[in-house]
Amino acid sequence: MEFRFSPEEDAFRREVRGFVRGEWPQEVTEGAGAESPLGYGGGRGFEEMRSFQKKLARKGWLTLAWPKEHGGLAAGHMNQLIYNEEMAYHRAPQQLGVGPDRVGPTIIVFGNEEQKGRHLPAIAGAEVIWCQGFSEPGSGSDLASLQTAAVAEGDYFVVNGQKIWTSLANVADWMILLARTDPDAPKHKGISYFLLDMKTPGITIQPLADMTGRQTFNQVFFDNVRVPRDCLVGELNRGWYVAAATLDFERSGINRVVAGFRTYEELVAYSRETARDGGRIIDREPLRNKLAELHIEFHAGRLLAYRVAWLQSQGRIPNAEASISKLYGSELQQRLARAGIEVLGLGGQLKPGSRWAPLAGRIADYYVASVATTIAAGTSEVMRNIIAMRGLGLPRG
Ligand SMILES: Cc1cc2nc3c(=O)[nH]c(=O)nc-3n(C[C@H](O)[C@H](O)[C@H](O)COP(=O)(O)OP(=O)(O)OC[C@H]3O[C@@H](n4cnc5c(N)ncnc54)[C@H](O)[C@@H]3O)c2cc1C
Repeated sequence: MEFRFSPEEDAFRREVRGFVRGEWPQEVTEGAGAESPLGYGGGRGFEEMRSFQKKLARKGWLTLAWPKEHGGLAAGHMNQLIYNEEMAYHRAPQQLGVGPDRVGPTIIVFGNEEQKGRHLPAIAGAEVIWCQGFSEPGSGSDLASLQTAAVAEGDYFVVNGQKIWTSLANVADWMILLARTDPDAPKHKGISYFLLDMKTPGITIQPLADMTGRQTFNQVFFDNVRVPRDCLVGELNRGWYVAAATLDFERSGINRVVAGFRTYEELVAYSRETARDGGRIIDREPLRNKLAELHIEFHAGRLLAYRVAWLQSQGRIPNAEASISKLYGSELQQRLARAGIEVLGLGGQLKPGSRWAPLAGRIADYYVASVATTIAAGTSEVMRNIIAMRGLGLPRG
């Protein structure tokens, strides 16, 4: 493993850093607006994020890793990692929805020419927002048990059922939808993968508030929704394998670690500047040790994410390594949140908006939101199962 970046990669980092410092509001980078370990640009207004996306699209950075013939820059995985890292450190949204990192690469591999021509330029240009309609009330970790049904009828599939936890469905233009097309086949073999226009009649969206009070995800109901046949991606009943590729495309998870590191730096600065019970917070040994430990853990988390990107850059497929990085990074966010509450004391529970809240209430928000980090994109238990079976070669439990 090479621990240094190349001069070209360092130059790219400087370019991204200069751009984001110039174009993304400095006050958000410095912590104005609610903090969230799940991203979304520090609670920034949607339209503002959307216009920032257009600027990123003009630079070609939303599609850094896409091949040139599909409008990408064909930049390497390390450049993608550097871009993600700089965006996260500056609390800027690296993309809105799942179009650039998941849908586009999936269409490039599995889509037909018509789908490529229609969707790839719109994603690359930040003209559309995509959401991911995979999870259902009874099917999250065991996704292959999903029950939403798509029944062939002439030139259409008629979809009935329900999705849940669909991030950004309330603002998305399109959805990648998994639905059961053969109820009699073994569960992995009866699922198909569709591109669904969210304006199709029969779709009802109900926003759900998370524990911070934000409406980042939704329930989506399908009542006889007619999806044209040409919106099927890949082969009928082979959608499970297409979905597996979609989930594999965003792997390194560097943003989890780096966004938290900014908050960590702010906590350290606060504990240096603030006195409690007659002495600086940083001078209390248990807290100082905790902060030192976290510093080491952030460094380890960063290296675990780098390893995933490096494996990809060597043409290898990270598997257990990606799960290790996800598990470690998301649990680290929770350890940071707990340490933050300890460092700030009782005031740490005050939410954004309170004039007495230390660090503008970001830690209280972060603490609550961090619960979801070990659920979204695969729970910690599921990650541990993958590491045990694929990484350590242990038998299925
Ligand atoms: C913030 C957020 C955003 C999300 N956005 C989206 C989205 O945009 N699109 C989408 O499709 N989904 C989304 N999800 C859903 C997410 O993918 C699921 O919540 C996740 O996969 C877990 O599924 P579940 O909630 O059904 O929990 P379950 O699978 O029911 O799990 C419940 C508990 O059982 C444990 N468990 C389950 N199976 C096993 C096992 N085999 N071994 C050991 N323990 C097990 C789990 O670890 C967990 O603790 C989002 C979730 C969150 C929190």
